[in-house]
Amino acid sequence: MHVILLGPPGAGKGTQAGQIVAATGLVHVATGDMFRENVRGGTELGLLAKQFMDRGELVPDEVTIGMLRERMDRPDAAAGALLDGFPRTVQQAHALDAALAERDQLVDIVLLIDVPADAVRARLGGRWTCPNDGAVYHQTNNPPQVAGHCDKDGAELIQRDDDQPAAIDRRLIAYEEQTLPLIAFYDQAGTLVRIDGARALNDVTTDLLAALPGPALAGGNH
Ligand code: AMP
Repeated sequence: MHVILLGPPGAGKGTQAGQIVAATGLVHVATGDMFRENVRGGTELGLLAKQFMDRGELVPDEVTIGMLRERMDRPDAAAGALLDGFPRTVQQAHALDAALAERDQLVDIVLLIDVPADAVRARLGGRWTCPNDGAVYHQTNNPPQVAGHCDKDGAELIQRDDDQPAAIDRRLIAYEEQTLPLIAFYDQAGTLVRIDGARALNDVTTDLLAALPGPALAGGNH
């Protein structure tokens, strides 16, 4: 089972991915998290990716696709995954279809968390992240128990470089120019389900889970 989570930056993909993983047992593959781990680890891939991420631009397709293919080749992703933040360009979508076709697999469903650009801007501006575990909070929508500190490990929360205003604008432009065409791509493929993401987190989760094919909820990673 391969499920794609699509939506603008700040739509709540990471948070909702956690809920979907808990309900289905699917392996969570988030290219943004993978890049950030590489940045933290100081790898060559991390150094390269950081230049694009800090500016709010997409990492080049060949780099991203290579990283994703390697991740999908690991045994835990053999039967499927929840893809969060990938694909983000039509070229990535084609590469994903090709990689899955090699294993006689398909994209089963694409869940679009639909949030208007204005709402996205407000959400990203108030976003704070734990530098240790990547947990994401929002100063009004999802505040930590103790202001400025992570609920899990107490670390002081930071604002990601790409959550600064100039980078937010560029991320929204990247979404509109490079990722929006994917909506038509998956609409045509008949796999797209639109979920109104401009609502309370729990309501969005309920609709996302309801949209999943039965086997995903019954058994997880098959
Ligand atoms: P995210 O956490 O998904 O918002 O990703 C953070 C940043 O990582 C993005 O702004 C991009 O710079 C980079 N990134 C993540 N996923 C991709 C992707 N599929 N293609 C290109 N760049 C990506």
